[in-house]
Amino acid sequence: MASSISSSALLLRPRPPPLLRRAGRLRRSSKPYFTLSPIFASSSSSSTTAPLMKKEREKEKEKEEEVVIVGGGIAGLATALALRRLGVAAAVLEQGASLRSGGTSLTLSTNGWRVLDVLGVADELRAQFLQIQGFCFSIREAIPEIKPKRLVMRSQDGRELRSFRFEDEAPGQEVRAVERRVLLETLAGKLPPNTISFSSRLRSIAWQGKDGTLLELDDGRQVLAKIVIGCDGVNSPIAKWMGFPEPKYVGHCAFRGLGQYPEGQPYESKVNYIYGRGLRAGFVPVSPTKVYWFICFNSQSPGPRTTDPSALKKEALDLVQTWPQELLDIMRNTPDDTVVKTPLVDRWLWPGLSPPPVAAALNGSSSAVAVVVGDAWHPMTPNLGQGACCALEDAVVLAGKLAPALTGSRGAVVAALGEYAQERWARVFPLTARASLVGSLLQWEDPIVCAFRNEVMIPRLVRLGPFLEHTNFECELLEPIASN
Ligand SMILES: Cc1cc2nc3c(=O)[nH]c(=O)nc-3n(C[C@H](O)[C@H](O)[C@H](O)COP(=O)(O)OP(=O)(O)OC[C@H]3O[C@@H](n4cnc5c(N)ncnc54)[C@H](O)[C@@H]3O)c2cc1C
Repeated sequence: MASSISSSALLLRPRPPPLLRRAGRLRRSSKPYFTLSPIFASSSSSSTTAPLMKKEREKEKEKEEEVVIVGGGIAGLATALALRRLGVAAAVLEQGASLRSGGTSLTLSTNGWRVLDVLGVADELRAQFLQIQGFCFSIREAIPEIKPKRLVMRSQDGRELRSFRFEDEAPGQEVRAVERRVLLETLAGKLPPNTISFSSRLRSIAWQGKDGTLLELDDGRQVLAKIVIGCDGVNSPIAKWMGFPEPKYVGHCAFRGLGQYPEGQPYESKVNYIYGRGLRAGFVPVSPTKVYWFICFNSQSPGPRTTDPSALKKEALDLVQTWPQELLDIMRNTPDDTVVKTPLVDRWLWPGLSPPPVAAALNGSSSAVAVVVGDAWHPMTPNLGQGACCALEDAVVLAGKLAPALTGSRGAVVAALGEYAQERWARVFPLTARASLVGSLLQWEDPIVCAFRNEVMIPRLVRLGPFLEHTNFECELLEPIASN
């Protein structure tokens, strides 16, 4: 990273949270707010290129709404789409040569679906992925053997500990495992062509006086932005630049994969968790032909990075070779190259200690603002299945606050982002902590403690309704802006 946050930068402390308000109407501009043509190519230092770009920047001065999103993952594409629905165009810089095609599945709960509804893509996704609980879904007819839907918790020997029907204990809950690739393609498909600039890896970022923030890419291109939205994931360069510490390894890693059954998968549409000692696994049908599985295992360190996919799969199978046959069958039906291993990390956003997620250059009439969204801000362990759901929530809240503010002064933008920071911090900090706590409990190794978990906690104490309380999330519609 060529630059660090300058002394002229003001990190904004969030203001008290207002209620999420309906986004105001904007006039849709006939001109694009931003075009991703190189401002100045083949330079490595922002300071030496500044005079050369002056003329170009003069042209940019009028474009007060220039918004650049760094990262074309879930947070980045959802933010671009939410802004788009409010009449604000944003350019997305993605380091990959295309949308991430690998990756497995994500379980999205009611809150995630609420956001996808607001973004106008939920039904398209619902049509492709099985509903895990509650209501009948049409896919059911296609697979007559699917039985009533429920969540099952088991011990390592396959014995059933507890079984819930979501509709009994948490009515209205919507859970589906969604292929990440399809989710990204669906979000991207709703954006205007050329919104996403692929092979655009951010190398450095620096305030550029009152003109904005200068983003320098790996290939030497430079992009000047008024508003930078960092959606660049768990190792976010933008978060680092804003002063966030590295995410912390929590002591366990995950294997994930997608079992494939071209002739139709035979499993009930339910979430299955299998608990061992310092080791747990799970699987859930995604679609009529795919089943997602995961394994979490304790490990002192993340260990070396394995690139050989067949070695990864073998490592995963070795961990659970005596576990229930169904799990092994799904793993064996998984193409090697879909297996991924991830060290689990998180970052706790301690009040007063953690930097705020919004930074602005302090410079009189300054208009440079940066904000982080999703994993870039609040990486959390996947124990509640909420990382992507929260990234989606961030996107609509941010867009709902930012879009109306863009018609006002730069101070209004900064204030709107401060509201976003406050409102979302109150949501994501407790979830990050809770996810970590749940992970610690589930990764217990001590046999007595594990016996207590299996014989007392899960069968008698766990209540699904309160446990899923966090999936309640209300967000208002992002009303499409009428053209004029
Ligand atoms: C094992 C595991 C299981 C999970 N299961 C669930 C689940 O069931 N449900 C759930 O809700 N969440 C789950 N999550 C969490 C979820 O994957 C993340 O929260 C989600 O992907 C965050 O989205 P994001 O867009 O913030 O980051 P990412 O998805 O990481 O996207 C970041 C994007 O930024 C790009 N990028 C990075 N650096 C640069 C750069 N320098 N320049 C340009 N582009 C860049 C990347 O290429 C990428 O496209 C799980 C996570 C793990 C590890």
